[in-house]
Amino acid sequence: MEIKRAKSEEKPAAAGTEIIESLYAKRIEIYPRSQIGDSLGWFQRWRWVLVWLTQLFFYGMPWVNWNGRQALLFDLVARKFYLFGLVLWPQDIIFLTGLLIVSALSLFLFTAVGGRLWCGYACPQTVYTEIFMWIERHIEGDRARRMALDRQPWSARKVAIKGAKHAAWVAVALWTGFTFVGFFTPIRALGAEVASLGTGPWETFWILFYGFATYGNAGWLREQVCKYMCPYARFQSAMFDRDTLIVTYDERRGEPRGKGSKTSDRQARGLGDCVDCGLCVQVCPTGIDIRNGLQYECIGCAACIDACDFVMEKAGLPLGLIRYATTNSLRNNFGGQQILRRVFRPRVLIYSSILGTIVLALAIALVLRVPLKVDVIRDRGALAREVSDDSGRTLVENVYRLQVMNTSERREVFQIKADGIADLELASNATFDVAPASTVSIPLRLRAPAGLDAGSHRIYIEVRAQGDDGVHVREKTTFLGLRP
Ligand code: SF4
Ligand code: SF4
Repeated sequence: MEIKRAKSEEKPAAAGTEIIESLYAKRIEIYPRSQIGDSLGWFQRWRWVLVWLTQLFFYGMPWVNWNGRQALLFDLVARKFYLFGLVLWPQDIIFLTGLLIVSALSLFLFTAVGGRLWCGYACPQTVYTEIFMWIERHIEGDRARRMALDRQPWSARKVAIKGAKHAAWVAVALWTGFTFVGFFTPIRALGAEVASLGTGPWETFWILFYGFATYGNAGWLREQVCKYMCPYARFQSAMFDRDTLIVTYDERRGEPRGKGSKTSDRQARGLGDCVDCGLCVQVCPTGIDIRNGLQYECIGCAACIDACDFVMEKAGLPLGLIRYATTNSLRNNFGGQQILRRVFRPRVLIYSSILGTIVLALAIALVLRVPLKVDVIRDRGALAREVSDDSGRTLVENVYRLQVMNTSERREVFQIKADGIADLELASNATFDVAPASTVSIPLRLRAPAGLDAGSHRIYIEVRAQGDDGVHVREKTTFLGLRP
């Protein structure tokens, strides 16, 4: 029996031929054409604006100081998150949870309205790939030169060019890893440690790991991360409907495609507006042809829109052959007003109202948040005991321990009060102070008349900041009497 290796372009094999189909498809290198100068369109300008904004935030934020410390710092060792004037403790995990829910819902909302806006404009994979391609273009040259260089046999010149590119990529990747770790450990101290080669094992690991991931994902894997690794690409279609804005080729206007200059009478030749220049495919970072319809590989970067508009302008044809459009608008020839009206559909309104409610609830909770946390722990070793005071009265005493957390950024003096049963008095210090963003453990002795019935009595312990009535916490606990 004849055994053949299958190739997609081969004709069907004859009967009796065993076909061996490889499950591994070799990657075809993509050389996206750069859009620079005149061909840099509106959407690509916006993409660069977002690259700048996100990267200014990422690389710059760890260096911003606030109150003499890093403004944004997730201090995992001390288990405190600093966000400008806000200090969040592990007990404030609800805010982090809320933030994650808001991020997920925002993603649903923006995807339902504008498709893969996140992927195309703000996803770190897209942004770093863009940066790495910019470096590549400046070292190796544009598309044609890169393709020619890759076809050439290895030479000293090729090694030098490739070496320079990889050195630049590695430098950016390591700086990215360093910056990433700088969100978790004070970046200035980290910088000094790196300069003296004295970073700890975890810091070293994460700088190298994050740097390696950036280098590998943005330099080598690129579109493969979006196509094969990103889970979001898989489930996003569940968030699309016929009124979601997607990057679309207007087939009715473009087909039948055919080459021709702007002076040609395309209508007379029965041609549509697509001049079949292939530019939309050449600029696509995932290497697809949008004229084949919506494909899951499309990350919604709109590079093909700008490329096609550039061609249309040169050919003297109306812009927008490839454009953001909804399936309904293409089918029913909707205008801008009709598309806009359909943005406010039930799915979008539901996402928006849930999102708005959660954001409002989080904002209110943050504003009302008291920068003080108190835990009352009963002393299990000495439940209740009889004691005499200075005047010889016999009293019953209960011992507690207060864990007091000052989550503000200033030293506070606190006062303790207790009530709930008659003649309850404090036998330990009533005032104490706590350093900024710290916890103290305070012993507390409460006394009541000896005639108090045996069993537990509900009492309240209040801790209040001196000079700030808004900062107080009232905790419930029990007091044990001894009289049989
Ligand atoms: S088809 Fe267009 S929008 Fe989609 S990834 Fe390619 S260039 Fe970007
Ligand atoms: S860029 Fe526009 S005109 Fe050129 S092939 Fe693509 S759709 Fe056709």
